Amino acid sequence: MSQLPLQERLAILADAAKYDASCASSGTAKRTSRGGKGIGSTEGMGICHAYAPDGRCISLLKILLTNHCVFDCHYCINRKSSNVRRARFTPQEVVDLTLAFYRRNYIEGLFLSSGIVKSSNHTMEQLIEVARILREEHDFRGYIHLKTIPEADPELVRQAGLWADRVSINVELPTAAGLTRLAPDKNIATIEGAMGGVSQAIVEAKDARRHFRHAPRFAPGGQSTQMIVGADGASDTDIVTRSSLLYGRFGLRRVYYSAFSPIPDASAVLPLKRPPLLREHRLYQSDWLMRFYGFAPGEVAAAAGSDGMLPLDIDPKLAWALRFRERFPVDVNRAPREALLRVPGLGVRAVGALLAARRQRRLRLEDVGRLTVSLAKVRPFIVTADWRPTLLTDRADLRALVAPAQPDQLELFAA
Ligand code: SF4
Repeated sequence: MSQLPLQERLAILADAAKYDASCASSGTAKRTSRGGKGIGSTEGMGICHAYAPDGRCISLLKILLTNHCVFDCHYCINRKSSNVRRARFTPQEVVDLTLAFYRRNYIEGLFLSSGIVKSSNHTMEQLIEVARILREEHDFRGYIHLKTIPEADPELVRQAGLWADRVSINVELPTAAGLTRLAPDKNIATIEGAMGGVSQAIVEAKDARRHFRHAPRFAPGGQSTQMIVGADGASDTDIVTRSSLLYGRFGLRRVYYSAFSPIPDASAVLPLKRPPLLREHRLYQSDWLMRFYGFAPGEVAAAAGSDGMLPLDIDPKLAWALRFRERFPVDVNRAPREALLRVPGLGVRAVGALLAARRQRRLRLEDVGRLTVSLAKVRPFIVTADWRPTLLTDRADLRALVAPAQPDQLELFAA
């Protein structure tokens, strides 16, 4: 079969990579400078944005090595039985593309994933080869994120971590039953075994570098994973519990949640509709509650309804506070940090600022107002030098009083 031109293969393999959310690409408006107007474009094929370990936002060339695959995961557009146009790069072609984009200043790194061709080991070797050539032959110092194939030999997964800044292995679905039904070629024990191997290698490399300055680094950006939301029957409680387990067992840097989106030529076992995007957002907020606000997974689950689903109209922190009203109001002049972090509308930064300010003076409601987007949301849950809510938390209509008129995408992190 004759090979498609490079440009066409780039279009196919960049498009095929867009379903992977684990590089944290950000959505934006479409703009181009075609026709000589302005400069720059947000439509560059395969360019996405990610956050580097030091917090910088960087542009990545995000592509697949190939969208051929011998597996048949029902939710995946690249599955064996899917009727899509197929394409493939050689490792050298990916290297050349990366360097060409890099020299033109379009990107600062590479996010490389792949369907499985021939075997998991063969595919993994090809992915590693790209990273090796970039690092060893071109002294490439940009960011490299490699998706690793859990079924590959653990030694190959280890090699990937020696060249890449970050490695990720997708758990794909929140439950073992969902994985068995929708990804029959995959196995939860194999996936977790690979994650465990990466986690151990990261710890060992860090330890070695404490003793020997020149010991090799291993995936200094850590490992991450992705879960598809809404393709199986898993509830938000199931998902949050699973994430917490993964963070704890494998020291993951991030769990990404990707709302299942119906794909062309979809398998009949999949739902016809995608879940609301807001569901994905509520899961990210829950994830933040566990990582930065001291919430246990059981507490996030307590914010969910009896069906295990988080409310969509209010954020999970507010849902939790409304359910556990006896924990409020919290005195901003005396309460410990942990209690302040539970107050709806107060973010980590706002709480830090309140703790610093109260060393100087007794805080009033207006001091809190300067640190939050919505004082109306915070007020029923706090006590200040000049404010105490009178029976507010007992009101039957409190939810209606504090819920945003339109669910706000940034409400949890705004303060
Ligand atoms: S192994 Fe990966 S590329 Fe292949 S069908 Fe499954 S999800 Fe898609």
